[in-house]
Amino acid sequence: MLRLYRFLKPYRISVIFILGLIFLQTLSDLYLPTLMSNIINKGIMNHDINYIWKTGGLMLLIALGGVICSIIASFLSSRAAVGLGRIIRNKVFKRVESYSLHEFDKIGTSTLITRTTNDIVQVQNVSVMIARMMLSAPMMIIGGLILAMSKDKPLTLVLAVAIPVLVVFIVLVAKKIIPLFKSIQSKIDRINLVLRENLTGMRVVRAFNRIDKEKERFEDANADLTNTYIKVNRIMAFMMPAVMLVMNFTSLAILWFGGLRISHGDMDIGALTAFIQYAIMIMFSIVMVTIMFIMVPRAQAAAVRINEVLDTKSDINDSNDIKKADSERGYVEFKDVSFSYHGAEQPAISNISFSAKPGEITAIIGGTGSGKSTLINLIPRFYDVGGGNVLVDGVDVREMSQEALREKIGFVPQKAVLFSGTITENIKYGKQDASDEEVNHAAEIAQATEFISGMKDGYDTEIAQGGTNVSGGQKQRLSIARALVRKPEIYIFDDSFSALDFKTDAKLRAALKQEIADATVIIVAQRVGTVMDADRIIVLDDGQIAGMGTHKELLNTCEVYREIVSSQLSEEEIA
Ligand code: ADP
Ligand code: MG
Repeated sequence: MLRLYRFLKPYRISVIFILGLIFLQTLSDLYLPTLMSNIINKGIMNHDINYIWKTGGLMLLIALGGVICSIIASFLSSRAAVGLGRIIRNKVFKRVESYSLHEFDKIGTSTLITRTTNDIVQVQNVSVMIARMMLSAPMMIIGGLILAMSKDKPLTLVLAVAIPVLVVFIVLVAKKIIPLFKSIQSKIDRINLVLRENLTGMRVVRAFNRIDKEKERFEDANADLTNTYIKVNRIMAFMMPAVMLVMNFTSLAILWFGGLRISHGDMDIGALTAFIQYAIMIMFSIVMVTIMFIMVPRAQAAAVRINEVLDTKSDINDSNDIKKADSERGYVEFKDVSFSYHGAEQPAISNISFSAKPGEITAIIGGTGSGKSTLINLIPRFYDVGGGNVLVDGVDVREMSQEALREKIGFVPQKAVLFSGTITENIKYGKQDASDEEVNHAAEIAQATEFISGMKDGYDTEIAQGGTNVSGGQKQRLSIARALVRKPEIYIFDDSFSALDFKTDAKLRAALKQEIADATVIIVAQRVGTVMDADRIIVLDDGQIAGMGTHKELLNTCEVYREIVSSQLSEEEIA
């Protein structure tokens, strides 16, 4: 957790102020009982009204000063802690944004969300407590002991018995509570997981009549968390009265033995009142410190999880020596490229070589799992190649800046993703400053105008979270429009036509052909009809190129292609 405090830098002046204020407040707390005892000894005992007024006034002033310090310190420390939370959240978000797909595969989305929200709040809350306790508790304990001793030495023997009793008691309690607290975090994770799976998989849950089972699963996780909280609270509820009992017995003992010493004339009343107050202060501080030690491990567990996110560096970074390709436009070349997913035994693709030029359509066809998506994910550098080179405009993608590289590309992913916002906003995602005409034009080519104008607010229709109020095919057309509005050098369509009916598919491709005549187009498809008229068809089989050429060439040379074709087209269509 200490490592997270490096982010307190913008608040370092606040922190110094807070510590100073708490120092002053603690001093005033420590000084008040001594003044009190002075009033009793010198004022009340000697009937010196003047002294009582003077010292009483001083006490009021000091108490007031202490209160003001405490208020300002509270204010500043809350602000610093919340600010710290904000900074960490930003850092985590930024770091996660920089991850390549590989890191997402590794850490998992669910826990990234818990870490950005719940875990950071834990650290934030404990920080307020630490700010308040770190300085004042030790000062109270040590200062209180010294001052108590200065009032009366023999009476400190009572504390020598009471404090160890108290400490043993709270250590026992802490031992029971800390593991419970630590387990709470993972139990919250579990609830999040079950909830997320249920929300995203709602249709499956319903379709397979698993609602009762899922309810049970959630209830189990929920009850588990609840029971843990109840256990914690039970122990806490028991702890407070028990601590009060120890404190009250201590006061009683001090009064008893103090009374004896006063009647023997070894001590005065003022010293006794001050002594009791110091004793309570010390014990109270000890309790607060223990509570802090109980809370810190939980926040510590959260901090470890946050640091894990911050320490995970993306594999994919801009190289130091960024190369630019100015002269060439839209050239894509694969040179003997191989790639394996992390932990996979077999490479997902191997020995891929081909090149694509502007004005050409390159189609990639192959069975599911043959590596089509993997191959095209290498072009925008979502993953780095294992061997060989991917060149865009003659420069290795690892030597370009990621921004410049992706600027050149209009990417339509296999699974269309829309963001919450209007249709126009979603299309403009491809080009922030696109005009309405550009947006319209892109939608037209993507064959989306028909259903957009059929919607309630046309282009201003809000897309629901996750795009649930549009169909799969509509989503896909919107994400195609989003890529089109960019007017990039290279278009990549990953199976983007599969959710379209044949007619729309054909119309869309006809419109596209004119629109993107001078761009480089790479289309991944399942249907032979979609790829037939491409300039170059790459047939992928098990991550390797089984054949490459035009439809006609492949029919003669490539067995795999022939099989795909004959499974989809009738005899006449092939001929
Ligand atoms: P296609 O798009 O042709 O259907 P993919 O390129 O998605 O195929 O997948 C190729 C192979 O790589 C498959 O065997 C798949 O299991 C594996 N694969 C895909 N994505 C990942 C991933 N994120 N982590 C590990 N393996 C993956
Ligand atoms: Mg795919």
